[in-house]
Amino acid sequence: MLKFYQKFIKNTFGFVLLVITVVGASVALSKGQNLTGENTPNATMIVELTSDERAWLAAHQEINVGVKHSWKPVEFLSDQKNFRGITIDYLHALEPLLGVKFKLFNIDEKSTIKADILSSVSNPKTINADEYLLTKPIHSFSYAIYVNKDNRSINSIEDLNNHKVAIFGKGLLVTFLKQNYAKLNLVNTEVIEDAFVDIQNKNSVAYIGNEMVVDYEANLQGISFLKKVGYLPFSTNLRMAVRSDWPILQSILDKSFKALEPRKSDILNNWDMSIFKKTNIMTTVVIALFSLMILATLFRAYKLKDKLKKQSIESQRQIWYQAHYDQLTDLPNRMMFNKQLAEQIVDASKNNKLVGLLYVDLDSFKEVNDFHGHSIGDTLLTQVSKRIQDCVRTTDKVFRLGGDEFTIILTDIDNLDVIEKTAQRIVERLSQEFEINHLTVNITSSIGSSTYPNDTRDVSTLIKNADMAMYQAKKHGKNCFKLFAQPMQDVFNHKQMISNDLKKAILGNEFVLFYQPIINLKTNKIIKAEALIRWQHPVKGQINPAEFITIAEDSNAISPIGDWVFRQVIEDIFVLKNEINASFSISLNVSPKQFGANSLLNQWPRLIEEQKVPRNSIGLEITEGLLLDINANTSKLLKELSEAGTQFLLDDFGTGYSSLSYLKKLDVDFIKIDKSFVQNLSDSAEDMVLCEAMIAMAHKLGLKVVAEGVETIEQKQILIDMGCDYAQGYLFSKPKKLEQLLTDNHLNQIELKKRKKNITRLAEICY
Ligand code: C2E
Ligand code: CA
Ligand code: CA
Repeated sequence: MLKFYQKFIKNTFGFVLLVITVVGASVALSKGQNLTGENTPNATMIVELTSDERAWLAAHQEINVGVKHSWKPVEFLSDQKNFRGITIDYLHALEPLLGVKFKLFNIDEKSTIKADILSSVSNPKTINADEYLLTKPIHSFSYAIYVNKDNRSINSIEDLNNHKVAIFGKGLLVTFLKQNYAKLNLVNTEVIEDAFVDIQNKNSVAYIGNEMVVDYEANLQGISFLKKVGYLPFSTNLRMAVRSDWPILQSILDKSFKALEPRKSDILNNWDMSIFKKTNIMTTVVIALFSLMILATLFRAYKLKDKLKKQSIESQRQIWYQAHYDQLTDLPNRMMFNKQLAEQIVDASKNNKLVGLLYVDLDSFKEVNDFHGHSIGDTLLTQVSKRIQDCVRTTDKVFRLGGDEFTIILTDIDNLDVIEKTAQRIVERLSQEFEINHLTVNITSSIGSSTYPNDTRDVSTLIKNADMAMYQAKKHGKNCFKLFAQPMQDVFNHKQMISNDLKKAILGNEFVLFYQPIINLKTNKIIKAEALIRWQHPVKGQINPAEFITIAEDSNAISPIGDWVFRQVIEDIFVLKNEINASFSISLNVSPKQFGANSLLNQWPRLIEEQKVPRNSIGLEITEGLLLDINANTSKLLKELSEAGTQFLLDDFGTGYSSLSYLKKLDVDFIKIDKSFVQNLSDSAEDMVLCEAMIAMAHKLGLKVVAEGVETIEQKQILIDMGCDYAQGYLFSKPKKLEQLLTDNHLNQIELKKRKKNITRLAEICY
């Protein structure tokens, strides 16, 4: 396509054609903007508000919003003195949804009005927590490194050591850079233009800044000497803030942003200058183009036409190219993909043909990027794109949607064979080693496919199905290909249903906690128990955690569920200590997904202290994955929990990375040998050796060992001989209700009820 354009635009006819294309694109885009930017709410968009919330909105028809006047394109005052930008588009979209009017005013002015809402907060430290509450994030900003185009030596942040780097001198970015990249010589700039001048004059080697803002400014100012060479492993969130006496509005906004989610990309794309699609820029471009045409004609008369025409055409070609192609791989981008897929489907429906769609996602690209740096990651992507193109027929079209996602449209096919063979070829080819800068890099890919019209006749469903099939390929162990099939849709629907039901399960009192005893192999006494959740579904009956925990993890339900478990455990530990043994302890399972900035888990250290839970009474069962991928927040929280007296057990040991090196550092107290090893103890010599080695290593590091899944006396004896400390399994007891555990321990039921009554019912208080 590109070569075609290059040839064409060498003559005037091509030039005219190009003008028509650009005008066409501009008209199409300006139409798009009316749909998205100018607040026609989608008829199906509904915010589910409570009756209190609706009543509150009815009583507050006008809400004052404090807006920043010069933060393009987030929010700013236009030359016509109108507020414009991303947050403004959000507010406009909200007005008809909520039936309120937002009165915008410049927050920087010495205004007497106190803002009810601050429309843009990216650094929570800039607002007073007593005065304002933050909403959930509406967008996440990436930070990019910009250098002069002539500069070939800077390819990643590491290359900037000991160089002058311009940066906006306040905020979270500075702190992040100072903490993580201390060797950068940071130069403070108040205005972005100064940074641009600095880079142009080579006073600074680079500018690091908010990608969206810098791209916008650079494009607005027509700056062409900049190039982007990489990204930081850092981002900030854009949120709104609501006056603290109106928490109800905070909840309304959070729900509304969620409802607006389907329109988010429209709003953002509207302001995304990196792909040059703003109408006003387009208009400028078109006007410029026409002027240039006239100029070119004039110059032809003066016999100077050729040189100038070539220059102007070249710059327009670049604009067109950047809007439709991915700069890194030279592949057509998402915009082209959507357009071409729609076209191919129209074509196929007329001619009764098939269209195949492949969705390719690399399996460990993030790791490569994190481990080797972005420049290696970028080179890898270009090599991947070449390999994919080598695997397809000339009639097939390859696109890069962004990140490590590629799609391929296959036309001219009469059966699924071609699709399967092409996908298999790609999987195979991408799993072969890559050589990059003398490094050997290994990755694999997961591919999903869907077919028109076999799977669906609808474009967006076709894409969704291919994506779903790709997801299945990932689930299936990655490095493979899956065709979309209706059962996938059924599984998907089933998950959707479980996920919806989960949200109601806490309030509906549908969870029960079971306890499975853990015994001391030396004394044969029960010394602790593992808490295992059970879900009594009102229609489907008992559902096992293996079936719903991963769904809860994928749908954010895990944080409240985990929190419910924890509160129930706090309540029960006092009973167990009283009735069984004063040093009794309970361990509970914690999912890595519970470790997040907004997770309820952050409140656990405080809860433990408030409830005066004795030290070493509660253990958290965590998995190795959490420790491998640990970040500053997680490690801080683990430390706080440990200081509050919590113990840590490393669950399913032996199935993951099984590296004992980090255990000591993180204060793990126990390892739990996975039941798959224990269950083969009698007849697999290999598992015998492994178990023995795990026990010996753990003991060397001063850790105790629990063996899971002990089912036979024989297994128990082997474990005792190996020096294992504790065991858990059906041989001793299945998981059971607290009541059962206690009655087995000879406690009278009536007595128990009486005692339980006196304990604060924490779980009830909270939900
Ligand atoms: P897990 O942490 O490995 O828990 C042990 C599982 O092994 C439990 O399955 C338990 O019932 C089962 N088990 C115990 N002894 C034996 C035995 O002798 N033989 C065999 N074959 N199995 C035995 P369960 O309760 O179905 O839980 C499955 C998984 O679900 C747990 O594996 C854990 O990862 C997760 N889970 C359970 N409760 C929670 C929870 O409250 N929060 C979170 N995040 N995950 C949970
Ligand atoms: Ca466990
Ligand atoms: Ca386990």
